[in-house]
Amino acid sequence: MMASVCKSGASVRGAVHAMCRQVQQMSVAGVRGFASSSSSSGLPSPAVPQQEGMTPYSYIPPGRNHLFVPGPCNLPHRVQVAMASLAENHRDVGFPYFATQLLNDMKYLFKTESGRVMLFPGTGTGGWESCLTNTLSPGDKVVCFRYGVFSHLWVDMAQRLGLNVIVLDEEWGNGADEERLKRVLEEDVNKEIKAVMVVQNETTTGVTSDLLKCRQAINAAQHPALFFVDGVSGIGATDMKFDEWGIDVAVTGSQKALSLPTGLGIVCASQKAIAARSGAKLNKVYFDWNDMMKANDAGSFPYTPASQLMRGMRVAIDMLMEEGLDNAFARHARLAEGTRRAVRAWEHAGLEILCKDPRWYSNSLTVIKAPEGVNTTELVNVAYNRYNLSLGLGLAKVAGKVFRIGHLGDMNEVSMLGAIAGTEMALRDVGVNLQMGSGVGAAAAYWQETSSIIPSRVQAM
Ligand SMILES: *Cc1c(COP(=O)(O)O)cnc(C)c1O
Repeated sequence: MMASVCKSGASVRGAVHAMCRQVQQMSVAGVRGFASSSSSSGLPSPAVPQQEGMTPYSYIPPGRNHLFVPGPCNLPHRVQVAMASLAENHRDVGFPYFATQLLNDMKYLFKTESGRVMLFPGTGTGGWESCLTNTLSPGDKVVCFRYGVFSHLWVDMAQRLGLNVIVLDEEWGNGADEERLKRVLEEDVNKEIKAVMVVQNETTTGVTSDLLKCRQAINAAQHPALFFVDGVSGIGATDMKFDEWGIDVAVTGSQKALSLPTGLGIVCASQKAIAARSGAKLNKVYFDWNDMMKANDAGSFPYTPASQLMRGMRVAIDMLMEEGLDNAFARHARLAEGTRRAVRAWEHAGLEILCKDPRWYSNSLTVIKAPEGVNTTELVNVAYNRYNLSLGLGLAKVAGKVFRIGHLGDMNEVSMLGAIAGTEMALRDVGVNLQMGSGVGAAAAYWQETSSIIPSRVQAM
């Protein structure tokens, strides 16, 4: 990692060069120190023998790693404790009760009564696959917006499964154009399009599309297509009215706004989507909804459930119920707005928000365009190497040009201020001449004005 910073550091200012040299010398000294096991310094030799040329990794910096990527997210202590449960037999008589209750309570996340929630050991990508293979047949026509890496990958999956995908490309930084969707559906006079696929929050660009308006476009075209939503980085941070918005399948993953470790693909399917299962000819085995639903009806699973993750999920859902889902969205919106104010305060140094229209601003993350000549990969590396701050890299088309600050999941104002301060330091390290504290000040002012007393602390007043 350090080597790559130094190599790509050719274009940056002296400060980073000096830092690279310093750290390189430190790590060379470290390797030498470890290599000479007959320690003349009298220090004990390291527990892990070092190989020649290997960077020692025994030094863990004090304090927290500041994790501000848009997933995986910080784990609340309560969730971690709940997951430190002993291994358990999912065939014990108590487990079906726990599992049934959990699956039922997870409907809260989707604001659904009629939808059916399924939990697959896997990730969001597995959720995508279960959605497509359980509802569609080879050659079926589907339409999908593409405005970033995740929508691209979903398109790619659909194509590799043998679907006929009408791709609606939008400029990166834009969201779903509902008028365009309406036109495409209206032109489909024979109603050959079987599904509309929309990524709710495009994690590459920090853009949240308007699902209600997409549903209204489908209705306006009087089209019977199924409505599939990738809610992976949205659900838990942004509203999801599954029933009200007529969504047929919504997908998420445990490691995004739910603040659990990676490992659960979460799917909510409408009765219409479940009914489509009987005519769907794409192959599925592991992700077959029929197997899952049949087992779930008896409180069991078609294969070993990830019980520790489910114990963690129980607490994650409890915490969202305690906070109130709408309060959690409002908290995310406030953190997002404060972060955007910080970026606006950096405009004097040439930084800007990538999302093109305020109606698409994301509650989950802010994606920031760096000024010309600044390499954001270098920025992210410096933040990590110098300040133990993990920011999101720019991906694919915008690699090196943008960076991402995640504010989803287990997060609050003061933590965000740490991330914004660290970002300011790292920006200066890579040669951006911004006024130190400008972003921190703007964000802090907004959060100070808009914060309220933590409900459980009211009694202490
Ligand atoms: C992270 C992400 C995915 C991929 O989910 P995995 O859990 O990594 O498989 C898909 N879509 C969006 C919008 C994401 O943010």
